[in-house]
Amino acid sequence: MPAHLPSKVCVTCGRSFTWRKKWERTWDEVRYCSKRCRGGPSADDQACEILILRWLNERPCGTSICSSEVARALAVANGCIDDEWRQLLEPARSAARRLVASGDVVITQRGDVVDPSTTKGPFRIRWA
Ligand SMILES: [Zn+2]
Repeated sequence: MPAHLPSKVCVTCGRSFTWRKKWERTWDEVRYCSKRCRGGPSADDQACEILILRWLNERPCGTSICSSEVARALAVANGCIDDEWRQLLEPARSAARRLVASGDVVITQRGDVVDPSTTKGPFRIRWA
């Protein structure tokens, strides 16, 4: 990402995105990185966010939770069958990225804090 261009964090997917020419006049109002994100966080997405915060509150300080654990738990709550829980992996990750953007949590892989915008695959979530 070029350092000289302003960037902000998408309110839906929680990834950072960089200024583009098309946003020249509207940059201050831009909230979403893409057309796909324009609908805002889905209900599943918001449920993941609530679940992450609840678990972090309930568990001993310093405990981390896995993004796929969040997806599986929501799948159970939603009555998903077989491997439908996999469809909730992305909502779980988006929820965690949004919480990183708000400064509440960090995400880690193999114990290291990683960048939510570029990290691929499952990660762990803990209080910032
Ligand atoms: Zn987005």
